[in-house]
Amino acid sequence: QAKIEGRGRFAYFSESLTQAARARIDIEVRLRRAITQGELRVYYQPQVDIPSGRIVGAEALVRWQCPIEGLVPPARFITIAEATGLIGEIDDWVLRETCQQGQRWRAAGLPTLTLAVNLSAYQFLQGDISQTVAQVLRDTGYPAAFLELELTESALMQREAQAIQMLDRLKALGVRLAIDDFGTGYSSLAYLKLFPLDVLKIDKRFIDDIPAHRDDMEIVTAIIAMAHSLRLKVLAEGVENKEQLAYLQTQGCDQFQGYLTSRPVPAAEFEKLFLSGR
Ligand code: C2E
Ligand code: MG
Ligand code: MG
Ligand code: MG
Repeated sequence: QAKIEGRGRFAYFSESLTQAARARIDIEVRLRRAITQGELRVYYQPQVDIPSGRIVGAEALVRWQCPIEGLVPPARFITIAEATGLIGEIDDWVLRETCQQGQRWRAAGLPTLTLAVNLSAYQFLQGDISQTVAQVLRDTGYPAAFLELELTESALMQREAQAIQMLDRLKALGVRLAIDDFGTGYSSLAYLKLFPLDVLKIDKRFIDDIPAHRDDMEIVTAIIAMAHSLRLKVLAEGVENKEQLAYLQTQGCDQFQGYLTSRPVPAAEFEKLFLSGR
């Protein structure tokens, strides 16, 4: 009885595994094609300096312009891209495209903007990402001091020793380093101090309920104070209303990003936003 049941279960599992595997391979094939066919896009979300209210930079965020499904957000393909290793190619492409766009803006007479690019944990811990970054900076001519690389807490915490070594190599190129989604992982003060970081990005979840939740406001205040004591600039993510911005301003937060200014937009729209905001 047990044997039959066992066999039946095995058959069931192997069938569903096959189906899941097929679905994954299907997306992988389409994603691979998307990369080679030029279906990826970079959208730019303004980063605003709080004291002056000026746009000083942008975060580059990938989208997939799928001929069938339309504009696909990263939440729908980053996990598969990470599981298949395709994330490496995506991140490399976004990095290069962003630096090229930055150079085009400079050529068009815009001031040099700080452009932030996300690096996945996979990409960060695999091989030597600093060589790719150095190559892209050489090829595009974008000034290293205006390129910011965003890493999540989990990417840094997975193997701290290796992470510190990699950050040191990146830092030696002259780029800026940011810790993204801060507060969602497990980094402690002691660790943060070990990483050669320039910017701390407070995760949107702590901003969402300002000013309704006193606890979140106090956490934000504490994060800003802590970051400043470590000489890090602080950027708040996901700012959607004036109350949130006003609170951040009173707490001395340096920069913000959020729908209050703009959603991520294509390069041409970002340029218009930038020019209209001056
Ligand atoms: P992230 O790096 O934390 O990027 C911020 C996300 O918050 C973006 O979502 C942005 O559109 C969204 N956001 C910004 N302001 C607001 C706001 O006021 N309200 C709301 N509701 N959302 C806001 P997006 O573009 O969908 O990207 C999601 C995540 O996908 C990113 O989170 C990042 O982890 C990942 N990602 C995006 N592009 C890349 C990439 O090129 N490479 C890698 N490795 N990951 C990427
Ligand atoms: Mg980010
Ligand atoms: Mg973030
Ligand atoms: Mg996030």
